Amino acid sequence: MNGLLSALADVVFPPVCVHCRGLVEDSGFRSLCACCAREIVPAGGPPERPGPDQAFGRGCAAVMSRGPARALVIELKYHRGLHVLADMGEVFRKSAAVVECARGSILVPVPLHPRKLRERGFNQSALLAEALAAAAGGGATLAHLLRRTVDTPTQTALDRPGRRANLKNAFALAGGRRLDPRQHYILVDDVFTTGSTLDSCARVLRRAGCLNLDVITFGHG
Ligand SMILES: [Zn+2]
Repeated sequence: MNGLLSALADVVFPPVCVHCRGLVEDSGFRSLCACCAREIVPAGGPPERPGPDQAFGRGCAAVMSRGPARALVIELKYHRGLHVLADMGEVFRKSAAVVECARGSILVPVPLHPRKLRERGFNQSALLAEALAAAAGGGATLAHLLRRTVDTPTQTALDRPGRRANLKNAFALAGGRRLDPRQHYILVDDVFTTGSTLDSCARVLRRAGCLNLDVITFGHG
């Protein structure tokens, strides 16, 4: 029934590309036209490291955060476009490095502050972690190990030292959670920019005994 309803919905409201607003046909995606889908640039190497004192090991992004890939993130985060998650999962699935890294691991989404979560209605990192777990073929599990204790002002206007200061002690281990040092943990976020947020989260997990810790993001800023 759901399939029939969505087929009917596609006739009444044909799917529109989140990047160019053109009609989506035969692109292999629901929210990107074939032309924009071809413009997505896979992230080549690991994201730039914030410094020698980085608290996580490998960093892996699926795609470069620009053009159509950036449009998917913006649609999800700022326009409540949960329908793009299927496409973002598909992008994860196409990244062999991401799938290989995620397989068999415990995915830990970067948390939102409860106030922000109420405002937005969802945590995009948690939804992306779910999409990633599905893309990794069921060999990865999700664990909400972190909480955000400080409602930090937006990071975008700050430089790297500013971001670090802003995020100091902004995260803590969620109540009653324990880590197993034998497990491979992966922090999941939407975009890797300076790495400051991920580094702050990584420090909390390290202090809680995590030995094997990497990072996966959808985009590399
Ligand atoms: Zn397009």
